Amino acid sequence: MSVQPDQTKALCFDLGNTLIEFGPRQIAHQYELLKGALEEMLGPCDGAALKAVRDRQIVAPYSNGYRENDLRECGAELIREIYEVEPEDHQVDALVEARYQAFMDGVEVTGEVLELLRKLQTRYRLALLSNYPCGRSIRDGLAKLGLAEFFACIVVSGEVGFVKPHPRPYELMLEGLGLNADQCVYVGDNWLADVQGAKGVGMRAVLTTQHVPYERFEPKEGDHQPEARIGNLAELEGLFLA
Ligand SMILES: [Mg+2]
Repeated sequence: MSVQPDQTKALCFDLGNTLIEFGPRQIAHQYELLKGALEEMLGPCDGAALKAVRDRQIVAPYSNGYRENDLRECGAELIREIYEVEPEDHQVDALVEARYQAFMDGVEVTGEVLELLRKLQTRYRLALLSNYPCGRSIRDGLAKLGLAEFFACIVVSGEVGFVKPHPRPYELMLEGLGLNADQCVYVGDNWLADVQGAKGVGMRAVLTTQHVPYERFEPKEGDHQPEARIGNLAELEGLFLA
């Protein structure tokens, strides 16, 4: 394989479904807490309507020039579409808080991943780049899980305004590391955001299929191919520490 460890100075990671599970179970928990918050404020909530709006919001950035969703606007839209009323600020605040809480309760990291990062850190600088509209959730979640300390640089799409595969968040990560793209390898689970995004800025890419994501993007003709594919994150040890 051509991951070329010799020139590699940094390993850069996606978060959801790469370092931690963030699949149907975590999304269902988020929808449940949103439903509870809405019902407390505005009365019975149609769960199917909520799911329809949220499912559409999750993929909206990918057909909007890769502009990241505005977290408050997502909450306001839920209220408008489900209850057909104009949301008040405090109601939007409550929905932002419900999503934060759902994220914090829903994320877990395994001891194997922490141990793997400890080993990789002895030879490489590590960075994290996540598509998520709420920077506070990612940063507090990383701190809670004991992951934050591993990363020389953390970039969250919600703080950039653009999602991967847009080049901007990748460029900010490279600037944060002070490295060129060809010195970095990106590891992620999402064909479009991670593989196409990283390869598009000149990084090498490893595709992981360990976890089941909530949303999927199928390969298209002419897409970049990753340098490696792994079924379990632990395989990075063989690729980069052998
Ligand atoms: Mg992911």
